[in-house]
Amino acid sequence: MGFVPISIDKYIKKYLKNNPSENEKDLRKRLGSAISDYQNGEKCSCGNDIWVIGSASVGNSCYTCITGESMPIDDYEIDLVIKKRENKKGQRHIDEIKPSEIHGFFDDDGYEINSDLIKKPSLCITCIHDDNPNEEPLCNMNRFDQKDEKDFKCFAYKKINI
Ligand SMILES: [Zn+2]
Repeated sequence: MGFVPISIDKYIKKYLKNNPSENEKDLRKRLGSAISDYQNGEKCSCGNDIWVIGSASVGNSCYTCITGESMPIDDYEIDLVIKKRENKKGQRHIDEIKPSEIHGFFDDDGYEINSDLIKKPSLCITCIHDDNPNEEPLCNMNRFDQKDEKDFKCFAYKKINI
């Protein structure tokens, strides 16, 4: 039970296939703003987290208020807003890893950083480097460095031409 995670691009493709009259630019914009609202902690009027995919169509509300169902079963949600459980104990310390196996990166205490847990800023969604596996480590490094900053800045940012 729960949401099925989907990337923003995959969702947009799926949605446009079922709703050919929808404008891709508008949809992307609405999803982007629902994601940033979610990340800014905006809640449904009932106090629950908003459901980004539904909110992009009907305004910011949670799954239950939008659908009337108590739990999502096969419904999609944008992968980057699905909260992942943090597990500090599962992290490896740099001293426990053979030097030949060290890749990825580590926090200031020497614990391996699981890049899946790094929040993707909404800026990245409109960047040509998004989902590029070659850029991913650099992107994650940049995101991790700024995880406590209010505004995310990126010098590699290049806007997608739609
Ligand atoms: Zn609600």
